[in-house]
Amino acid sequence: MKAIIWGSCGSLPSPTSSASIRKKVKEAVWAAQGQTFESPQAVDCYLDTLPHSARGTYRANTSCVQIDAGTQEYILCDAGTGLRDFSLSLGKNPAPATYHIFISHLHWDHIQGFPFFAPAYQAGNRIIFHGFHQAIEATIRQQMEPPCFPVPFSTMQAEIEFDIQENGAHFDIGDVHISTIKQKHPGDSWGYRFEQKGKRIVYSSDSEHGPEARDPDYPFIRFFKQADVLIFDGQYTMQEAANEKRDWGHSDHITAVEIAARAAVKQLIIFHHEPAYGDAEIEALHHEAVHYSVKYNHSLSRSDPAEHFPQQIKLAYDGLIVEAS
Ligand SMILES: [Zn+2]
Ligand SMILES: [Zn+2]
Repeated sequence: MKAIIWGSCGSLPSPTSSASIRKKVKEAVWAAQGQTFESPQAVDCYLDTLPHSARGTYRANTSCVQIDAGTQEYILCDAGTGLRDFSLSLGKNPAPATYHIFISHLHWDHIQGFPFFAPAYQAGNRIIFHGFHQAIEATIRQQMEPPCFPVPFSTMQAEIEFDIQENGAHFDIGDVHISTIKQKHPGDSWGYRFEQKGKRIVYSSDSEHGPEARDPDYPFIRFFKQADVLIFDGQYTMQEAANEKRDWGHSDHITAVEIAARAAVKQLIIFHHEPAYGDAEIEALHHEAVHYSVKYNHSLSRSDPAEHFPQQIKLAYDGLIVEAS
């Protein structure tokens, strides 16, 4: 089972500007002065030595993650603009299929890709929204109404269903079991835990963990327990999350490390990046989290051996594939 990140930017799509691309190219060319490249592959090898912020970006599409469990039916988390890139990856005229879309909540950045989801316009496809907000169907339809959008929902030829559940519900798709948790976020959001053959991937975006997270019985520790991959909302700095952006419904990198360590998570993926931060700033937060993790691990080894810091802490970016292993 693996997670494929199609959209990782928080709040709104935030494509890199021409000026920013030019700056990255300039710095990369300057750093390569004096070197000769015998082949395009040699250029790739050189680019791989640069930090991701110098050769790519962390901020592009909004939330959409595919859970690829080898099942016949597609499994997706949220329908942000990354959903469009997912549909482009299917190629032209894909065979009729069933798509399950698990919705965390209805903020625009989590649904705005759906009007551009090509399979929705093709007869023979089946799309099932799963979630907990009673307003899912009305909201998905409303965002396609004039004057906001020129193509009405009624032109979508796929069979589109809305599976709205009560808090605490779980789901099964093929041999994938999906459990859920209600999260602290304006208007509430839900996290999803996918389990298959002993492997576990948790998608937990748009979720704030305040002082209540210090409780030894904090329910998220159980929900994240021994996840191979935890996709975690780390939009803010710790200072912002605790002060001016408290109660805004998001978390931070340091809290991500602490909670992941307490839950013995293997790979922590920081997700839902702040669109106002540049790529280098996001990378600086990540370095801080990695350093903190090493420090935190030293203190843990003296207290609770059941806890350990994540083996890997990565920043999500569009195109990242994370294997549950
Ligand atoms: Zn969001
Ligand atoms: Zn939100």
